[in-house]
Amino acid sequence: MYSKIISFIQKIYNTKDYIALHEPVFNGNEKKYLNDCIDSTFVSSVGKYVDQFEKEFAKKVGSKYAIATVNGTSALHVSLILADVKFNDEVITQALTFVATSNAIKYIGANPIFIDVDLDTMGLSPNSLEEFLDNNCELINNQCINKTTKKTIKACVPMHTFGHPCKIEEIKKICDNWNISLVEDSAESLGSLYNNKHTGTFGKLGIFSFNGNKIITAGGGGVIVTDDENLAIKAKHLTTTAKMEHPFEYQHDNIGYNYRLPNLNAALLLAQLEQLDEFVENKRDLALKYDKFFKDNDKIDFIKEPINSKSNYWLQAIIFKDSKNKNDFLEYTNNNNVMTRSIWKLMTNLEMFQDCQCDDLKNSKYLEQRVVNISSGVRI
Ligand SMILES: *Cc1c(COP(=O)(O)O)cnc(C)c1O
Repeated sequence: MYSKIISFIQKIYNTKDYIALHEPVFNGNEKKYLNDCIDSTFVSSVGKYVDQFEKEFAKKVGSKYAIATVNGTSALHVSLILADVKFNDEVITQALTFVATSNAIKYIGANPIFIDVDLDTMGLSPNSLEEFLDNNCELINNQCINKTTKKTIKACVPMHTFGHPCKIEEIKKICDNWNISLVEDSAESLGSLYNNKHTGTFGKLGIFSFNGNKIITAGGGGVIVTDDENLAIKAKHLTTTAKMEHPFEYQHDNIGYNYRLPNLNAALLLAQLEQLDEFVENKRDLALKYDKFFKDNDKIDFIKEPINSKSNYWLQAIIFKDSKNKNDFLEYTNNNNVMTRSIWKLMTNLEMFQDCQCDDLKNSKYLEQRVVNISSGVRI
């Protein structure tokens, strides 16, 4: 039965060679812009490609400002600082996410609280979020206080798993009611919309990643988006070692970070951004093919975009009805030249986060045991 799946994937990708889960495609102006960037000698963090990329990116997602960073994790780190998260504060996120989301919270010395996801989106569940807040928190002086720990919950970081938008409008409403800042981890969802609005633009701040395996890549890279001019200025300042403008003196007014994206990476990224629509269409078409193929399978369902959403289908995902079959499939495919990957382990199963507060994580556990990513690269 699994050999049929392998044959199907080989047919789609038109090869019997090794098929990676996801590979970058450089078919546009990448070399042209990179050569131009090298010739200009402006290879570091100041340069026209950084400026141009930020302008084009903001336009693409419909946010007022975009600030390019060295990677998605640094974008999250700085966004949380700008959301006023401080040492000993608390930040709500989902247990089912990539570890970077939780790491960024810990960089500040804040503590994550892990809340369940919805089965249909695999992203933070507004119902679980509201239930947790109603049962465990109270508003004191318009601050959300966790009654168990007496600490302040400052921010909430939902994540759009594999590019499928979570119920972000509902989450935003709840955050507003509790005076919690919404910071969207949209690392995986460039090109994905919720009710026709781009993911990453619902909260105070949103971030995207351009790591080598993301839908577009700069080798490494990230970006912060916001509509708040003040936050945008601060984001640029903090990511540029908090250096004050001066013609010849070194003056810094904060502990800053060396987090700006180099011009070289921005040159590559601008060329990638020009191809984003094409990549998204390619992946959505692939999803249609998988959906049709798995219709006949009574053990596996293909995971489709949730309602009210347009997904970029960054990583294609299937779910085993019986969790017992997941490992056999992973072993069989990886032993037969087709790379597949399990969904992440829940954060609460990692040693660093095992003592963090969480809810019952019922859906997260269900998905953890059953979801697998299959070949997702753009077909050329
Ligand atoms: C990729 C990713 C990040 C981090 O991005 P980097 O650019 O690798 O630092 C953060 N969150 C999620 C959910 C991701 O998938």
